[in-house]
Amino acid sequence: MTATQQATTPTATTDLPVVGHWIDGAIGAGTSGRAADVYDPATGQVTKRVALASREDADAVIAAAAKAWPAWRDISLARRTQVLFAFRELLNARKAELAEIITSEHGKVLADALGEVSRGQEIVEFACGLSHLLKGGQTENASTGVDVSSIRQPLGVVGVISPFNFPAMVPMWFFPMAIAAGNAVVLKPSEKDPSASLWLARLWQEAGLPDGIFNVLQGDKVAVDALLESPSVKAISFVGSTPIARYVYEVATQHGKRVQALGGAKNHMVVLPDADLDLAADAAVNGGFGSAGERCMAVSALVAVDTIADELIGKIKERIAGLRTGDGRRGCDMGPLVTGAHRDKVVGYIEQGVAAGAELVVDGRDKLVDGPVGGFWVTPTLFDKVTTDMSIYTEEIFGPVLSVLRVKTFDEAIDMINANPYGNGTAIFTNDGGAARRFQHDVEVGMVGINVPVPVPVGYYSFGGWKNSLFGDTHAHGTEGMHFFTRGKVVTTRWLDPSHGGINLGFPQNV
Ligand code: NAD
Repeated sequence: MTATQQATTPTATTDLPVVGHWIDGAIGAGTSGRAADVYDPATGQVTKRVALASREDADAVIAAAAKAWPAWRDISLARRTQVLFAFRELLNARKAELAEIITSEHGKVLADALGEVSRGQEIVEFACGLSHLLKGGQTENASTGVDVSSIRQPLGVVGVISPFNFPAMVPMWFFPMAIAAGNAVVLKPSEKDPSASLWLARLWQEAGLPDGIFNVLQGDKVAVDALLESPSVKAISFVGSTPIARYVYEVATQHGKRVQALGGAKNHMVVLPDADLDLAADAAVNGGFGSAGERCMAVSALVAVDTIADELIGKIKERIAGLRTGDGRRGCDMGPLVTGAHRDKVVGYIEQGVAAGAELVVDGRDKLVDGPVGGFWVTPTLFDKVTTDMSIYTEEIFGPVLSVLRVKTFDEAIDMINANPYGNGTAIFTNDGGAARRFQHDVEVGMVGINVPVPVPVGYYSFGGWKNSLFGDTHAHGTEGMHFFTRGKVVTTRWLDPSHGGINLGFPQNV
């Protein structure tokens, strides 16, 4: 490992560029006078500021979307498809640019950022099939001379509120589907890495999307509350931590909106004694430390049956020793954490784990890294002998900290997962098909991997957890996504026939 121990120099934040809103096809500075710092996590420097909307700014963005929406709703499916295809082509050609932006504000390594964009692109590709996805049903002669058809129509203006950890992919879980279905979108990105949203907005404009159909509202709670409370916003797709997801669900439903609010996670990976332990060790390292553990599908609890735990931990330790943590632009394996405050929180959890009596097998504090000294570093950390009452297990750390919990039996592993309040993702490593089948049947988790550590569903399936990992019932993208962004209408038709005239106040019966 090489360490470029450069000192950082403080920057005068007032001279920095400010990331603005995207309203009706143009950048808007807003009127609030409020802004937050945006960091390059690998250097620890503030590189820009982001505007934080006032309620008036939010209302202006929502009004622009509401004004643009009716024309987009009425545009043919053929034309909508062409715009989606053009967006897909531009994204595919230029995704390296977007990946660089993500790395510069989030910190994840470039290859990982590119992977994020590609997984988002999958949803755009799925949404290109909008004409098929929006097909209704038709029944001829439901009653004599009566036909019934069902259609699905867009909702209007929809709000998408996204977290810092996937500044491109998570918004792309929703907005391609919403736009394909004929809605207008207001995206409220995370204030920690806001620039990807503006890059995507410009791309939509280049793809031919009419102005006002994709808008970006930068900000914090003020912007979120405006979206939750505005009568013009008909639906909210939220992704973030569980307390905020619960809040968003409660407030937005009180305001009459449909809501899908995806929350936090604690994902368990179970390793049975018959598993290929090299494969399982690779998977635990990839799933635990990819994106510095800042993934809602990261493996954070490794549940090992006691008989193989020592061997598995040995293999994981060897692999951690070969990882290079550093600036994501330097070909490292793992980047920094998103902010200094988050780094300090993760370090605090490591201290709590030690104090609670867990065995710290690999300590990621104060290690040499391939990046400037001011970066927000924690290198891969491994705990053994973690128990379910320790805070490193009960809380979502969202950092590169992998906790091993030892169990005696398979049943004990399943009970542990089902007792956990989160239910986002889980995985099992085994060569026993019967055990895997029982796991997938009994485990109370929304996304299950069998010998796959991070089982993020492909775009044409739907993404979503159970329990405290999702409030609402509709998962993201796939056919559930198209359902979320449309509402059903059933039309019953009878063409006039003199034989059906006359007065009858009884409830119509089918004959
Ligand atoms: P966060 O909850 O802090 O923020 C998410 C969004 O909510 C941001 O846009 C933020 O500006 C806004 N927000 C924050 N505080 C708010 C408040 N008090 N009132 C209203 N809005 C508020 O989450 P984060 O730190 O950006 O992201 C990490 C979290 O997201 C983790 O818990 C992770 O598990 C979760 N996540 C979940 C999924 C999933 O699919 N379930 C996917 C990605 C991330």
